[in-house]
Amino acid sequence: MTHELPPLPYEKDALEPHISANTLSFHHGKHHQAYVTNLNNLLKTHPLADASLEEVILQAAGKADMVGIFNNAAQIWNHTFYWHCMKPNGGGMPSDSFRAKLEAAFDSFEKFCEEFKQAAVTQFGSGWAWLVADKDGKLKILKTGNADLPMAHGCVALLTCDVWEHAYYLDYQNRRPDYVDTFLKHLINWDFVESQLA
Ligand code: FE
Repeated sequence: MTHELPPLPYEKDALEPHISANTLSFHHGKHHQAYVTNLNNLLKTHPLADASLEEVILQAAGKADMVGIFNNAAQIWNHTFYWHCMKPNGGGMPSDSFRAKLEAAFDSFEKFCEEFKQAAVTQFGSGWAWLVADKDGKLKILKTGNADLPMAHGCVALLTCDVWEHAYYLDYQNRRPDYVDTFLKHLINWDFVESQLA
């Protein structure tokens, strides 16, 4: 099977002024596309050529001879998930029921935002900040380096923020904390996040 670049769930300029059409054009059209092209090339004659993206990720995770396959497959999954974690006029508050779950896990919605921002800002170099449900259903914040992702650690991803520089440098330069603040206040698609818990 051939892996394909999924379309963005909104127009390229839909997240302006927070994330520019220029950023989405490069991030989706060049970076995300490159992971798809690379994975298809790596899998051409591989036993996992007909496996689903999730199978490829889980089979390749932690295997020294499959690092390239893991990195490209995981980055395809991570980016598709990230696009859906945002929407125009997003941010604000989740539903009362999901907010109650965040309050149970992090004491308050504000504390959740602080901890998520802290993870995103302190991820050294390239990576991702996540809200996940662990195998017992407990909500947790994770940060992962490069392409690493929750499913490789037995967790279900609920929300992610891409903190690779390519996600924010054209709009925010080195100001990762401002990008993360904007992500939390104006971009999160809480309906999508909540739907991942079902
Ligand atoms: Fe990215």
